[in-house]
Amino acid sequence: MTSHNQQLFDESQKIIPGGVNSPVRAFKSVGGTPLFFKRGKGAYVWDADDKRYIDYVNSWGPMIVGHCHPDVVKAVQDAAAEGLGFGAPTASELEIAELLCKILPSLEMVRLVSSGTEATMTAIRLARGFTGRSRIIKFEGCYHGHSDGLLVKAGSGALTFGQPSSSGVPAEIAALTTVLDYNDAAGLEKAFAEYGNEIAAVIVEPVAGNMNLILPKREFLDAMRSLCTKHGAVLILDEVMSGFRVGLQGAHGHFGIKPDLITLGKVMGGGLPAAAFGGRRDIMQCLAPLGAVYQAGTLSGNPVAVAAGLATLKLVQAPGFYERLTQIAKQMTEGIAASAKKHGIPFSAQSIGSMFGLYFSEKAPTSYAEVMASDKEAFNRFFHAMLEEGVYLAPSAFEAGFVSAAHSDADIAATIAAADRVFAAWK
Ligand code: PLP
Repeated sequence: MTSHNQQLFDESQKIIPGGVNSPVRAFKSVGGTPLFFKRGKGAYVWDADDKRYIDYVNSWGPMIVGHCHPDVVKAVQDAAAEGLGFGAPTASELEIAELLCKILPSLEMVRLVSSGTEATMTAIRLARGFTGRSRIIKFEGCYHGHSDGLLVKAGSGALTFGQPSSSGVPAEIAALTTVLDYNDAAGLEKAFAEYGNEIAAVIVEPVAGNMNLILPKREFLDAMRSLCTKHGAVLILDEVMSGFRVGLQGAHGHFGIKPDLITLGKVMGGGLPAAAFGGRRDIMQCLAPLGAVYQAGTLSGNPVAVAAGLATLKLVQAPGFYERLTQIAKQMTEGIAASAKKHGIPFSAQSIGSMFGLYFSEKAPTSYAEVMASDKEAFNRFFHAMLEEGVYLAPSAFEAGFVSAAHSDADIAATIAAADRVFAAWK
């Protein structure tokens, strides 16, 4: 009998390119039929065939308090009952802006948008407007959304499909993006020495989560900060994924690095479309209607999305919230790695805050090249075997995983036990 997932996928492919509305969802890199989900609650999601999975994708990050947390659902219902949107300012936008600035002292001013892509795209435009320069620097394997200038040697779905640089991006635009190696402080220094006075901005994932999980080297972060300051370039820390994930103050709080601008998304929208960018007041004041850099959005600051974000941000401030997430992510990665070792499988794993990386390589990678050298076929096999076991991991070897506050100790233990069964049967 054809599964409901398969039926839905067959029908979807007739009218939606690839059957999906975002490429990684298609399971193309891991093979097989994508799951169509119909419900989520806490740590679990259910597919169209009513099979339950322990969810480590968490809607690609936002669901840090688990699916359908009662406080978030109530906040959304209450906001929706008052109006779905006005395209005019609301008190809740002020409330979330004040909360973001309170939690993240690097934000002197903040603007709300609806997606991470908008946040990074506008942060780049703002840096260009502020500096009067055109060139930007990004790092291979980092993904900053799908705007033209940032889809150059990108990570995430672009990388998963072997298309890190997209067709349709004019060469003239791509030429303004210089791509360097992640964690290579010397490479960055050399680039600044050569054309430092042309560089408007350096944009980076301070913890890279779109080429699996890559942790930043201290010297890399320090070089970025000091070189941007020395050459008058804007340092944009893209915390769309790492913000409220690595810890309450994101990766920049964790590592103590001061950005000029940061971008946020995912968790701050609580699962609905809300994102933001902000930072230094002198830079943010260049934005329309104060300044000459234009940006706008019909749905920016949408009251329902803001309500979901506010409810989520209240929950993550609970004492011990990140300590527990850090502990369960560590427990899980260490448990799976110990099982792989017991069965003689080349494997490593690591975590930071609530983000984790699983790698079919002896050592956790520290660069794009090392990630690419890991065994992708082994990951694909592992992915499907875990799916069979009722554990939903990201359908790509190039994505970080996420734990949520809804994952119980029993869920973590069940996941390690599932991996152990998979590795025991590994040939
Ligand atoms: N920046 C980073 C670091 C991301 O991980 C993502 C999405 O995964 C984006 C930007 C783009 O965000 P969105 O998908 O909301 O446009």
